[in-house]
Order: sequence, then C-alpha cells, then structure tokens
Amino acid sequence: MTEHYQHRARKRFGQNFLHDAGVIDRILRSIHAKPEDRLLEIGPGQGALTQGLLASGAQLDVVELDKDLIPILNQQFGGKSNFILHQGDALKFDFTSLNAAPNSLRVVGNLPYNISTPLIFHLLNNAGIIRDMHFMLQKEVVERLAAGPGGGDWGRLSIMVQYHCRVEHLFNVGPGAFNPPPKVDSAIVRLVPHAVLPHPAKDHKLLERVVREAFNQRRKTLRNTLKALLSNAEIEAAGVDGSLRPEQLDLAAFVRLADQLAIQPPPVAD
Ligand code: SAM
Repeated sequence: MTEHYQHRARKRFGQNFLHDAGVIDRILRSIHAKPEDRLLEIGPGQGALTQGLLASGAQLDVVELDKDLIPILNQQFGGKSNFILHQGDALKFDFTSLNAAPNSLRVVGNLPYNISTPLIFHLLNNAGIIRDMHFMLQKEVVERLAAGPGGGDWGRLSIMVQYHCRVEHLFNVGPGAFNPPPKVDSAIVRLVPHAVLPHPAKDHKLLERVVREAFNQRRKTLRNTLKALLSNAEIEAAGVDGSLRPEQLDLAAFVRLADQLAIQPPPVAD
C-alpha cells in the first residue's frame, strides 16, 4: 500500500500501524475471508488489513474512533459497495445494530492494546452472533488467553474467555512490523465461540464473581480468598480442595464453585 497521507500516529488511540506486507498477508490468510462472510473490523486505522478484507468480496463494517482517519478511509474505500464505516468507540458500539445472523459475524482487529481486554469482554456479551475473532494483541495477553491451569498466566482473562471460546495462539509478530514500533511483542490470536458451552454455569455472573474473588489474591488458598462467598464445607461439596491456590483449578472446578454459590447466593457486593 502506498503511504501518501500525512497522518501522525496518536499514542492515546494506541496507533501502531502495520506496514509489513508479509505479516499483513499472513493475517489475511489466517482469516481466509470468503465473499459470503460478514466481517467487522475494529480500528481499521489507515486500512492495512481493510484493503485485503474488502478484496475478499465479503461485506465489511469497520469501527474507527479517530475522526482524522475517517476521510482517509472514505477516500480509499468509500466507493466500495461492500464497505460501511462507523465513526465511534468500539467499546460503546452496539453490535446488535449490525443485524448479523446468529453465529455469523467474523470480527477482526489489530487492537489498541489499552482497550483489548474490555473490548473482548464487550464482544463476549454478544458471543451469540459471533462466528470467530482474529486479533493482534500484546503477546503477553495472548499467552494469558491461551494459558492452561497451573501457571502464572492462568487467571480471570483465561478462564472467562475460555468459558465462551476456543483459543488458538496463531503466531507472534515483532515490533518491526509496525509504524511506529510498539515497545512490546505482539501475537495473533483466534477466538472461536463454542457452539455449546463445555462447562455451562447456572449463573454466569456468579462465575465471574468467584473467579474475580479467587484471583484477587492469587497466592492465598481458596479457603481464604473465597471466605466471604463459600465456607470450606461448601468448597468441598463442590469437589474442590480448599487448600489449593486459584491457579491450580481448571475451568470446570470454577464452574462447580459458582454452581455451589448459586444454591445460596450471597448478597450483591457494592
Ligand atoms: N488496523 C490498523 C493497522 O493494522 O495498521 C490500525 C491498528 S492501530 C494498532 C489501532 C486502531 O484502532 C487505530 O486506528 C485507532 O485509532 C483505533 N482505535 C483506538 N481506540 C479505538 C476505539 N475505542 N474504538 C475504535 N477504534 C479505536
């Protein structure tokens, strides 16, 4: 892509634009968009991925926050019938307004690192319309998303995302692929919402609460960290050893704890 615009990258919008054609191509091949697909790109920036996504023939909606990039995107892609541009904050975007069929929306984004976790949670609230998601994220975040129990990466993010999705760490991308280069390594992750939840909780909110509480002090035993929510007897009734630390439990065990809590939920915290 020729760089004929003069846009100064803004730090507050997390702007690190992809310029490595090999990396762009590898991302597009991982997504493998087809003409019948319904795509949503978060933060198209100067269109590094947008161009190839549109070339697939798929219908593409994009959400970009930076007003200064809107004319640049319109000039480049405004004439294409499969392109719809929304100016605004993806964290506040109403994904149901896209009227996508269940399990159809394919979400893509080289995400601003400062919004990646809240954005993933916002998208998971709409998991029913999403077919898959491909994101460029900080490598450490991808490692946490893809982690299994037993290590320091396993925590609230891994558990709540794996509750909803299968997670695949596809490949890593060094800082040199971006302009300006970020200070950290990046990676591409694929998230695929489960057709049927493998470990459904009776109440999803209680699962969030148990996981948040447990990992608030990850060095302590569950008996200690969950004291305000469950007695040791209740923890054991869920088939969990209260002397373990939170990072030793798998998703299924957290769901059993949440279901135990559902029997007699505590008052809602402030
Ligand atoms: N996709 C482009 C690329 O790969 O070169 C740009 C990636 S850049 C890391 C992140 C983009 O997200 C920027 O264009 C930035 O303006 C935009 N952005 C930042 N915060 C946003 C938000 N809350 N909602 C939508 N877009 C946002």
